[in-house]
Amino acid sequence: MMNTMRATLSIAGLLLALLTASCGGPAASAARKTASAGDAPADSSALPAAKDEPAEPSDLDRPLEELFAMTCEHQLKTFECAECRYETGVVCAPAKLFAGGLLQTQKAVREHVAIPLQLTGEVRFDERRVTHLSTQAEGIVREVHVALGDRVSAGQALIELESVAVGEAEGACLEAQAVLRLARRNHERALALRNEGISSEKEYLQARQEFETAEIHAESALGVLTRLGMSAADAQKLGAASARGRLTLRAPANGTVLFLHAVPGEVARTEESLATLGDNATVWVWADLYERDIARFSGKQIESRMAATVTVKAYPGEEFRGTVDLVSPVMDEASRTIRLRIAVANPRGRLFAGMFADVKVFLPGEQEALALPRNAVLEDAGRSFVFIHHHGDYYVRRPVEPGRSWGDRIEVLRGLKGGETVVADGSFLLKSDVLRSKMGAGCAD
Ligand SMILES: [Zn+2]
Repeated sequence: MMNTMRATLSIAGLLLALLTASCGGPAASAARKTASAGDAPADSSALPAAKDEPAEPSDLDRPLEELFAMTCEHQLKTFECAECRYETGVVCAPAKLFAGGLLQTQKAVREHVAIPLQLTGEVRFDERRVTHLSTQAEGIVREVHVALGDRVSAGQALIELESVAVGEAEGACLEAQAVLRLARRNHERALALRNEGISSEKEYLQARQEFETAEIHAESALGVLTRLGMSAADAQKLGAASARGRLTLRAPANGTVLFLHAVPGEVARTEESLATLGDNATVWVWADLYERDIARFSGKQIESRMAATVTVKAYPGEEFRGTVDLVSPVMDEASRTIRLRIAVANPRGRLFAGMFADVKVFLPGEQEALALPRNAVLEDAGRSFVFIHHHGDYYVRRPVEPGRSWGDRIEVLRGLKGGETVVADGSFLLKSDVLRSKMGAGCAD
């Protein structure tokens, strides 16, 4: 918590430096001169106010005209004074901060209030990001070279199996190679004898046919080994000494071991996954949608990627945001449900495959409301506010009353008319700026 606050403050500090540099101008340097002359009255708002003193009315309770008409002890319009501006709830945010992507604005617009539909679901791996390792030959697990969570690279040996089928295939392969060597020698000899006119063309053709057949058998025996899961390199190296019925399962790609089922001494069956490799930076939550609700999901809505939130028992009260990215085209005949897939970002790996989840999918409803992105609405001392663009580089915080929320949207019941430009991404930086005296007293250093 403290770390987060410090991080926020240091970014805010960076922003403050930018704000002062960009918005101070000659007025600000004049202000600093006045302040350092020593005759300026003490800045009472920078000191922690005594409890029994009547508090200054908050900028949130003053009309806009009054805030922009205020003057400060530096004989400046307060909102234009880099040192006193925060008292008016005004922030000067130059356009380059928006161009750089640090800050972003949105218009307050009326939109359809989404209606949450409650579903239950389960967290699964994003199958596009994982591969399952299994064996083509049943066998006994002899060695497991990796542990859960290990990073592996493509081709790395992961699991060693001992398999009767592989042993038999190795035997067949060695035998076919022996036959091939003999057939090659016979063919060379028959060729030499024919060229010297000692043997007949018929004898030569027979030796050539036997050689070609032996080549095909050897190829096919090698093919059996690779189909059983032996790498081509391992199969090529096969010799009488190395033929032990051992099968090395290798990583098909780079990734992390997300799931490991192989245990030494246990039987590995062909239909089982022995390990899952890949990453879980996004996961899928599969939710069940009942027949009665299907009509609410038209193709058009799916294309617009409906917002959804996911909660799991492990993190009570915490919502993971996602979007519906697939509605299964097949209905489960037993449960009479169709499956809905929600892609959820999982950058810190806190959602685990197999977790049960409560899912809310937000469907566009009939009602309209004035709405903003959730991150535009901030809170301090129990009051909600947004930063509205006033003029030029100036943004002012104004009180709002939030209402319903859906996905990453929140309704504004009071405080906005609609059409205002408000700061969404990065608004917390502006909050740190206007509340700097408060935050400075509590959390600096
Ligand atoms: Zn001032």
